[in-house]
Amino acid sequence: MAADRIVTIDGPSGAGKSTISQLLAVRLGFAYLDTGAMYRAVGLKIERTATACDDSGALARLLDGIDLQLQAAGGETRVILDGEDVSEAIRTPEMSMVASRVSAIPAVREKLTALQREIGGRGKVVAEGRDMGTVVFPRAAWKFFLDATPEERARRRVLQLRENGQQVDEAETLALIIDRDRADSSRALAPLKPAEDAMIIDSSKMTIDEVVAFMARQVATKA
Ligand code: C5P
Repeated sequence: MAADRIVTIDGPSGAGKSTISQLLAVRLGFAYLDTGAMYRAVGLKIERTATACDDSGALARLLDGIDLQLQAAGGETRVILDGEDVSEAIRTPEMSMVASRVSAIPAVREKLTALQREIGGRGKVVAEGRDMGTVVFPRAAWKFFLDATPEERARRRVLQLRENGQQVDEAETLALIIDRDRADSSRALAPLKPAEDAMIIDSSKMTIDEVVAFMARQVATKA
Protein backbone atom coordinates (compact mmCIF):
# COMPACT_ATOMS: atom_id res chain seq x y z
CA MET A 1 0.00 0.00 0.00
CA ALA A 2 1.48 3.34 -1.04
CA ALA A 3 2.10 5.71 1.84
CA ASP A 4 0.70 9.23 1.69
CA ARG A 5 3.17 12.11 1.61
CA ILE A 6 2.03 13.31 4.99
CA VAL A 7 4.02 13.95 8.17
CA THR A 8 2.02 13.45 11.36
CA ILE A 9 3.11 14.98 14.66
CA ASP A 10 1.08 13.91 17.67
CA GLY A 11 1.74 14.39 21.34
CA PRO A 12 0.56 15.99 24.58
CA SER A 13 0.09 19.71 25.06
CA GLY A 14 3.19 21.82 25.43
CA ALA A 15 5.59 19.32 23.85
CA GLY A 16 6.48 21.91 21.21
CA LYS A 17 4.30 20.45 18.45
CA SER A 18 3.06 23.73 16.98
CA THR A 19 6.41 25.49 16.68
CA ILE A 20 8.14 22.36 15.45
CA SER A 21 5.40 21.46 12.96
CA GLN A 22 5.40 24.96 11.47
CA LEU A 23 9.19 25.05 11.12
CA LEU A 24 9.28 21.56 9.63
CA ALA A 25 6.52 22.46 7.15
CA VAL A 26 8.47 25.52 5.96
CA ARG A 27 11.66 23.46 5.68
CA LEU A 28 9.97 20.75 3.62
CA GLY A 29 7.81 23.13 1.58
CA PHE A 30 4.70 21.37 2.95
CA ALA A 31 1.47 22.94 4.21
CA TYR A 32 0.84 23.03 7.97
CA LEU A 33 -2.38 21.66 9.43
CA ASP A 34 -3.15 22.71 13.02
CA THR A 35 -5.98 20.39 14.07
CA GLY A 36 -6.00 21.57 17.70
CA ALA A 37 -7.08 24.98 16.38
CA MET A 38 -10.07 23.30 14.77
CA TYR A 39 -11.20 21.70 18.05
CA ARG A 40 -10.68 25.04 19.79
CA ALA A 41 -12.80 26.88 17.20
CA VAL A 42 -15.64 24.37 17.51
CA GLY A 43 -15.38 24.70 21.31
CA LEU A 44 -15.61 28.48 21.01
CA LYS A 45 -18.71 28.24 18.86
CA ILE A 46 -20.36 25.80 21.29
CA GLU A 47 -19.55 28.15 24.19
CA ARG A 48 -20.73 31.29 22.45
CA THR A 49 -24.01 29.77 21.34
CA ALA A 50 -24.48 28.04 24.72
CA THR A 51 -25.25 24.82 22.86
CA ALA A 52 -25.85 21.87 25.17
CA CYS A 53 -23.45 19.12 24.13
CA ASP A 54 -25.96 16.42 25.01
CA ASP A 55 -28.55 17.95 22.64
CA SER A 56 -27.56 15.93 19.58
CA GLY A 57 -29.94 17.80 17.23
CA ALA A 58 -28.64 21.24 18.21
CA LEU A 59 -25.06 20.02 18.01
CA ALA A 60 -25.62 18.52 14.54
CA ARG A 61 -27.12 21.81 13.32
CA LEU A 62 -24.19 23.76 14.74
CA LEU A 63 -21.66 21.45 13.07
CA ASP A 64 -23.55 21.49 9.76
CA GLY A 65 -23.62 25.26 9.69
CA ILE A 66 -20.04 25.90 10.78
CA ASP A 67 -17.73 27.72 8.41
CA LEU A 68 -14.20 26.96 9.57
CA GLN A 69 -11.17 28.07 7.59
CA LEU A 70 -7.47 27.86 8.28
CA GLN A 71 -5.53 30.51 6.40
CA ALA A 72 -1.76 30.45 6.09
CA ALA A 73 -0.42 33.92 6.79
CA GLY A 74 3.33 34.58 6.92
CA GLY A 75 4.33 31.27 8.51
CA GLU A 76 1.41 31.18 10.95
CA THR A 77 -2.19 30.03 10.66
CA ARG A 78 -5.16 32.35 11.12
CA VAL A 79 -8.34 30.63 12.21
CA ILE A 80 -11.50 32.05 10.67
CA LEU A 81 -14.77 30.98 12.26
CA ASP A 82 -17.93 32.04 10.43
CA GLY A 83 -16.02 34.91 8.86
CA GLU A 84 -14.42 36.15 12.12
CA ASP A 85 -10.71 35.84 12.90
CA VAL A 86 -10.68 33.98 16.25
CA SER A 87 -6.96 33.13 16.25
CA GLU A 88 -6.36 34.91 19.57
CA ALA A 89 -9.73 34.13 21.19
CA ILE A 90 -9.13 30.37 20.96
CA ARG A 91 -5.70 30.46 22.62
CA THR A 92 -6.59 30.94 26.27
CA PRO A 93 -6.18 28.31 29.04
CA GLU A 94 -10.00 28.21 29.36
CA MET A 95 -10.40 27.43 25.67
CA SER A 96 -7.80 24.65 25.98
CA MET A 97 -10.03 22.89 28.50
CA VAL A 98 -13.19 23.57 26.45
CA ALA A 99 -11.49 22.14 23.34
CA SER A 100 -10.45 19.05 25.27
CA ARG A 101 -14.01 18.59 26.52
CA VAL A 102 -15.72 18.96 23.12
CA SER A 103 -13.08 16.82 21.40
CA ALA A 104 -14.46 13.76 23.22
CA ILE A 105 -17.86 14.17 21.49
CA PRO A 106 -18.22 11.65 18.62
CA ALA A 107 -20.13 14.04 16.29
CA VAL A 108 -17.44 16.69 16.68
CA ARG A 109 -14.62 14.23 15.95
CA GLU A 110 -16.46 12.83 12.94
CA LYS A 111 -16.94 16.29 11.45
CA LEU A 112 -13.37 17.45 12.05
CA THR A 113 -11.78 14.15 10.96
CA ALA A 114 -13.59 14.49 7.59
CA LEU A 115 -12.49 18.12 7.24
CA GLN A 116 -8.90 17.23 8.13
CA ARG A 117 -8.80 14.41 5.56
CA GLU A 118 -10.17 16.81 2.96
CA ILE A 119 -7.46 19.37 3.71
CA GLY A 120 -4.64 16.85 4.12
CA GLY A 121 -5.72 14.37 1.49
CA ARG A 122 -3.76 16.02 -1.28
CA GLY A 123 -0.51 15.30 0.58
CA LYS A 124 2.56 17.43 1.28
CA VAL A 125 1.20 18.30 4.68
CA VAL A 126 2.56 18.39 8.22
CA ALA A 127 -0.49 17.51 10.34
CA GLU A 128 -0.33 18.23 14.05
CA GLY A 129 -2.69 16.94 16.75
CA ARG A 130 -3.47 13.97 18.98
CA ASP A 131 -4.77 11.35 16.52
CA MET A 132 -3.09 12.25 13.24
CA GLY A 133 -1.00 9.08 12.97
CA THR A 134 -3.50 6.75 14.62
CA VAL A 135 -6.89 7.76 13.15
CA VAL A 136 -6.91 10.61 10.63
CA PHE A 137 -3.90 9.69 8.47
CA PRO A 138 -3.00 6.08 9.31
CA ARG A 139 -1.15 5.73 5.98
CA ALA A 140 1.07 8.76 6.53
CA ALA A 141 4.62 8.18 5.37
CA TRP A 142 6.26 9.79 8.42
CA LYS A 143 4.84 9.63 11.92
CA PHE A 144 6.27 11.29 15.00
CA PHE A 145 5.10 11.35 18.59
CA LEU A 146 6.58 14.32 20.41
CA ASP A 147 6.79 14.11 24.18
CA ALA A 148 8.47 15.96 27.08
CA THR A 149 8.14 15.83 30.86
CA PRO A 150 5.03 17.59 32.26
CA GLU A 151 7.27 20.05 34.14
CA GLU A 152 9.17 21.04 31.01
CA ARG A 153 5.93 21.36 29.05
CA ALA A 154 4.42 23.59 31.75
CA ARG A 155 7.52 25.78 31.76
CA ARG A 156 7.33 26.24 27.99
CA ARG A 157 3.60 26.90 28.03
CA VAL A 158 3.99 29.61 30.69
CA LEU A 159 6.70 31.33 28.62
CA GLN A 160 4.54 31.16 25.50
CA LEU A 161 1.42 32.55 27.21
CA ARG A 162 3.42 35.33 28.90
CA GLU A 163 4.91 36.28 25.54
CA ASN A 164 1.32 36.67 24.34
CA GLY A 165 0.66 39.00 27.26
CA GLN A 166 -1.37 36.54 29.35
CA GLN A 167 -0.87 36.31 33.12
CA VAL A 168 -0.40 32.68 34.19
CA ASP A 169 0.77 30.80 37.23
CA GLU A 170 3.28 27.96 36.69
CA ALA A 171 1.84 25.51 39.25
CA GLU A 172 -1.67 26.09 37.93
CA THR A 173 -0.47 25.58 34.35
CA LEU A 174 1.19 22.29 35.32
CA ALA A 175 -2.03 21.10 36.98
CA LEU A 176 -4.05 22.03 33.88
CA ILE A 177 -1.60 20.25 31.59
CA ILE A 178 -1.75 17.06 33.67
CA ASP A 179 -5.55 17.27 33.73
CA ARG A 180 -5.84 17.79 29.99
CA ASP A 181 -3.38 14.97 29.20
CA ARG A 182 -5.36 12.62 31.39
CA ALA A 183 -8.61 13.56 29.63
CA ASP A 184 -7.04 13.34 26.15
CA SER A 185 -5.36 9.97 26.85
CA SER A 186 -8.24 8.25 28.60
CA ARG A 187 -11.14 9.13 26.28
CA ALA A 188 -12.72 6.26 24.37
CA LEU A 189 -12.53 7.91 20.96
CA ALA A 190 -9.18 8.65 19.29
CA PRO A 191 -7.23 8.86 22.56
CA LEU A 192 -3.84 10.50 22.68
CA LYS A 193 -1.30 7.70 22.08
CA PRO A 194 1.56 7.02 19.72
CA ALA A 195 0.75 5.12 16.53
CA GLU A 196 2.46 1.73 16.51
CA ASP A 197 4.70 2.86 13.68
CA ALA A 198 5.44 6.33 15.11
CA MET A 199 8.90 7.45 16.06
CA ILE A 200 8.80 8.72 19.65
CA ILE A 201 10.89 11.80 20.38
CA ASP A 202 11.44 13.12 23.90
CA SER A 203 12.13 16.82 23.41
CA SER A 204 12.78 17.58 27.11
CA LYS A 205 16.50 18.07 26.55
CA MET A 206 16.50 18.94 22.85
CA THR A 207 16.25 22.39 21.32
CA ILE A 208 13.54 23.13 18.77
CA ASP A 209 16.13 23.31 16.00
CA GLU A 210 17.53 19.90 16.97
CA VAL A 211 14.09 18.29 16.82
CA VAL A 212 13.26 19.92 13.47
CA ALA A 213 16.62 18.89 12.00
CA PHE A 214 16.16 15.33 13.26
CA MET A 215 12.68 15.08 11.72
CA ALA A 216 13.81 16.59 8.43
CA ARG A 217 16.59 13.98 8.25
CA GLN A 218 14.06 11.19 8.84
CA VAL A 219 11.86 12.53 6.05
CA ALA A 220 14.84 12.80 3.71
CA THR A 221 16.07 9.27 4.41
CA LYS A 222 12.65 7.66 4.12
CA ALA A 223 11.56 9.76 1.12
O1 C5P B 1 -3.17 21.11 20.32
P1 C5P B 1 -4.13 21.97 21.11
O2 C5P B 1 -3.68 22.25 22.51
O3 C5P B 1 -4.48 23.24 20.38
O4 C5P B 1 -5.47 21.11 21.19
C1 C5P B 1 -6.56 21.48 21.99
C2 C5P B 1 -7.35 20.25 22.39
O5 C5P B 1 -8.00 19.72 21.22
C3 C5P B 1 -6.53 19.07 22.93
O6 C5P B 1 -6.37 19.10 24.33
C4 C5P B 1 -7.34 17.85 22.52
O7 C5P B 1 -8.31 17.53 23.47
C5 C5P B 1 -8.05 18.32 21.27
N1 C5P B 1 -7.47 17.74 20.05
C6 C5P B 1 -7.87 16.47 19.69
N2 C5P B 1 -7.41 15.92 18.54
C7 C5P B 1 -6.57 16.59 17.75
C8 C5P B 1 -6.12 17.89 18.12
C9 C5P B 1 -6.59 18.43 19.30
O8 C5P B 1 -8.64 15.83 20.40
N3 C5P B 1 -6.15 16.03 16.61
